[in-house]
Amino acid sequence: MNETLAARRDSDSGSPPRLRQADGSPEGLLRAGGSPASETNTGLDGGTSGETSPADGPRSMPSPPHLCRTGREFVAAATHDEFAAAATHDEFVAAATRDQREGALPGVEPQLRTTGLTKAYRKAAVEIPVLRGVDLEVHQGEFLAIVGQSGSGKSTLLHLLGLLDRPDDGSIRLGGSRIDDLPPAKRDRLRNQCFGMVFQFYHLLPELTALENVMVPGLIATGPLTGLRQRPRLRRRATELLELMGLSHRLRHRPRELSGGEMQRAAIARALMNRPQILLADEPTGNLDQATGREILKTLRTLNCTENLTIVMVTHDPTIAAQADRIVRLREGRVVPA
Ligand code: ADP
Ligand code: MG
Repeated sequence: MNETLAARRDSDSGSPPRLRQADGSPEGLLRAGGSPASETNTGLDGGTSGETSPADGPRSMPSPPHLCRTGREFVAAATHDEFAAAATHDEFVAAATRDQREGALPGVEPQLRTTGLTKAYRKAAVEIPVLRGVDLEVHQGEFLAIVGQSGSGKSTLLHLLGLLDRPDDGSIRLGGSRIDDLPPAKRDRLRNQCFGMVFQFYHLLPELTALENVMVPGLIATGPLTGLRQRPRLRRRATELLELMGLSHRLRHRPRELSGGEMQRAAIARALMNRPQILLADEPTGNLDQATGREILKTLRTLNCTENLTIVMVTHDPTIAAQADRIVRLREGRVVPA
């Protein structure tokens, strides 16, 4: 059984890579385990390196947070106080096992749910209400587009979903667990592990190469102490991801040496570095010409299909939105069917 994810450049069109997985299985690029390593080793998780890390631990054990395979698993880890205090992987495993045994989290669908989300910005004495009660459900594996006029609050909503900002009121739940009110360190960790983010203007760090940019979330996840030891593994994964995005010839290029499409593909690779559960994309094609935008969209769709990656994409462009499974509209601060 060939489960290798491979990328190849379309030699005729020079279009970005197509990710493929021979058996269509959702296990792969974003999944750390689930099948015997000998069958599913994609080379992306350091499985061939001989290095030992929590990633290589027994499959029957709960994964460490950066390798949790479902949002629920991760939230179980991230929200458990004992996890926060766990100094070692073994302590974490013990805490996570207890969490699961005690059924601390109900098995709730959808994957992501907002209830009555409100957000206003204040400028001097003036309050600008933007979101006025957003109720939204996103299901595992869904490709959802959020449309709305400029200034309707699309980016604001995406920032709240990705824990970049806090709502004034309402709640956000991931896998049934509330995540908007977590203390800062846990929010940061959850954002780093569970959400991949892609922005209109890429937000790559200009002084870093494409490879280093992609490694950044991995380095943040491992922390400074283990970061050095994990660096070869992270470099391998980042390289593989850039190859999957058709950028194997751009590993050492800095963002200013890349085209818009290449920067966005590097940004997507970066977003995938920690095997996120949900990809949040804010106008991912908004700064690109039409043909390049279509290619980026194709890449997102392929990730959605082959990896079962949940995608929430904001766009003001109806033709881009039409590619999604479902479209909702932000109007007067609320989500309505498009
Ligand atoms: P969209 O992405 O739909 O174009 P945004 O979410 O960026 O809309 O912005 C919604 C509204 O909130 C706009 O009127 C914008 O000017 C305002 N806004 C966004 N961010 C801020 C901020 N940091 N401070 C003050 N006002 C803001
Ligand atoms: Mg916006």
